[in-house]
Amino acid sequence: MGEGAEPPRAGSGAFSAAAGGPPSADAGDDRLIGVLALQGDFEAHARTLRAIGASVREVRVPADLAGLDALVIPGGESTVMTLGIEREGLAEPLRELVRSGAPVLGTCAGLIMLDREHLGVLDVVARRNAFGRQLHSFEADLEIEGVDGGPVHAIFIRAPWVAETGPEVRVLASVDGHPVAVRQGNVFAISFHPELTGETRLHRLLL
Ligand code: GLN
Repeated sequence: MGEGAEPPRAGSGAFSAAAGGPPSADAGDDRLIGVLALQGDFEAHARTLRAIGASVREVRVPADLAGLDALVIPGGESTVMTLGIEREGLAEPLRELVRSGAPVLGTCAGLIMLDREHLGVLDVVARRNAFGRQLHSFEADLEIEGVDGGPVHAIFIRAPWVAETGPEVRVLASVDGHPVAVRQGNVFAISFHPELTGETRLHRLLL
C-alpha cells in the first residue's frame, strides 16, 4: 500500500453496495480478531472486521496474540513487515497461533509473510510483485471457491502470485493461470485487497 491511500470507510456508498448485504450487528458474535499492526493497511482491515461485528485488537507484540479467535495479516511491504516480526519476536508466537487452528487471513504482503520462505505456515512460494511493471496495479472480478454471492471485486496492488503450491494447498482463484487465493486448513491467503472495496465475505470466513 502506498502511504496516504485512504480506503473507503464503512458507511460509504462502496461499502453498502458490496455483495453480501449490509453487515448485521451480531455477525461477529463477539469474536476477538487480531490484525497484525506493524506496518501496512491494518486500519482498513480493522474497520472491515468491526463492520461485521467482530471485536478487533491490533497486534504489535507477542502478548497481543493471547486469546485471539483469528488473525489478519494485512498488505504492506513484506520486507518491512519481516523486519518488524523479527524485531518484536513475533515469528514463533504467530506460528503457534496458526498451529492452534485459529483461522488466519493473509492479504498481499500478508500472503508473502505466510509462505515457505517467511513464517512457513502455508506450503506455497509467493512471488513478490509478480504481475510486473506493466500491471503495477489492477482490478478484476474473481469467482472464489467457497465464497458465495457472485464474484469478488479484487484490487491488486504490486501483488504477489503463488508460484508453487504443496499438496495440502487448495487453489481457490487464479488470474491468468496464477493462483491468487489459496487455502490450507485454517490458513487463507489472497493476493488482493478486499478491505479497500467494502467487500466483507473474505473476512467473514474468519468468523
Ligand atoms: N509489493 C509488496 C511486497 O512485496 C506487497 C504489496 C501489497 O501488500 N499491496 O511486499
